[in-house]
Amino acid sequence: MIGAGVAGMECAITLANAGMRQVVLVEGGTTVGGHVARIAQLPGLGEWRRLVAYRDRQLAQLDAVEVVVSTTLGSGDVLDRKAEVVVVATGAYWSQDGVSHLTHEPLDGARAGHVLTPDALAEGRRPEGDNLLVYDCEGYFMGAAMAELLAVERPDARIRLVTPFPVVGPFLDLTFEADTARRRLHALDVQTITGSEVRAIAAHSCELWRFDQQEEIPAAGVVLVTSRRSHDDLYRELRNDPDRLAQAGIEELHAIGDCASPRHIAESIFDGHRIARAIGGTDSNGFIRDLRIVTGRPAEAIERADSQIAPSAV
Ligand SMILES: Cc1cc2nc3c(=O)[nH]c(=O)nc-3n(C[C@H](O)[C@H](O)[C@H](O)COP(=O)(O)OP(=O)(O)OC[C@H]3O[C@@H](n4cnc5c(N)ncnc54)[C@H](O)[C@@H]3O)c2cc1C
Repeated sequence: MIGAGVAGMECAITLANAGMRQVVLVEGGTTVGGHVARIAQLPGLGEWRRLVAYRDRQLAQLDAVEVVVSTTLGSGDVLDRKAEVVVVATGAYWSQDGVSHLTHEPLDGARAGHVLTPDALAEGRRPEGDNLLVYDCEGYFMGAAMAELLAVERPDARIRLVTPFPVVGPFLDLTFEADTARRRLHALDVQTITGSEVRAIAAHSCELWRFDQQEEIPAAGVVLVTSRRSHDDLYRELRNDPDRLAQAGIEELHAIGDCASPRHIAESIFDGHRIARAIGGTDSNGFIRDLRIVTGRPAEAIERADSQIAPSAV
């Protein structure tokens, strides 16, 4: 198992509970938890830590699971380990090129040194200057959290949160977090600019468009919260060389969680659980329990149909 985010952790726990004798969970970072552990360090988001803490305790109680941290695996390392089953759970990252759902194109100037992403801030980097701009095309909490973090740390700077959505964090309305998040931004004097699109980033400013009106906004530092991409290089490298997989004795290869495609926490955890049920079992897609509930069909009928679907394994 490569990557100890919530997907990898859940998969390792489920495999061990199902009787798998040896599961090695390898993590490149110094601690387990992946992205959720990083989110939990942001202002007001400490509650998310429970998703990692619960699984960390489960792992500690399972003799069949060995957790190895501070070890980044490349494809050669994976092949050398001679595992029968390899699950890649290496997560996702924020795109540095500013590609968003609006244009699907890289944003002019996005790769300049004063333009960062939430990943860079999680690593401790910070934008510099008196005018800082967060551009949020995600619409959930990350844009607001980035603006709040900067406002708390830099009370001397002007923080602006620009979003193409009609309100800040529209998806926060669906989880009843919006009022709190917007109140905090207001209390911290963050200027929110809604319904506007950043079309280009220059050294000290951003080009903003609202319908057909253009405006230059001062921005010495920019944080882009535009879209996420899978960290799937390792998975692709392994998948694209089936001969080497066979020589290394690898019978199954899976990608789960954000590595398969960026998604939500619950989906990532479900994915880890689903694949663990599928590994070595008859439920090749791991959906029998769910299909029984959703369709009301008996398990045997679903198993018959399931056997006609190609498993996601190699
Ligand atoms: C900013 C942001 C906000 C989000 N907000 C929400 C939200 O509010 N609600 C929600 O439901 N979901 C949210 N999500 C999604 C959620 O965080 C992810 O779906 C989930 O954390 C993914 O878990 P994962 O285990 O697949 O990947 P990750 O948590 O990213 O874990 C991958 C792990 O693999 C490790 N790794 C990578 N490469 C290697 C390697 N070669 N060798 C060893 N280890 C390696 C990494 O160090 C990392 O620890 C958010 C995601 C982001 C980025």
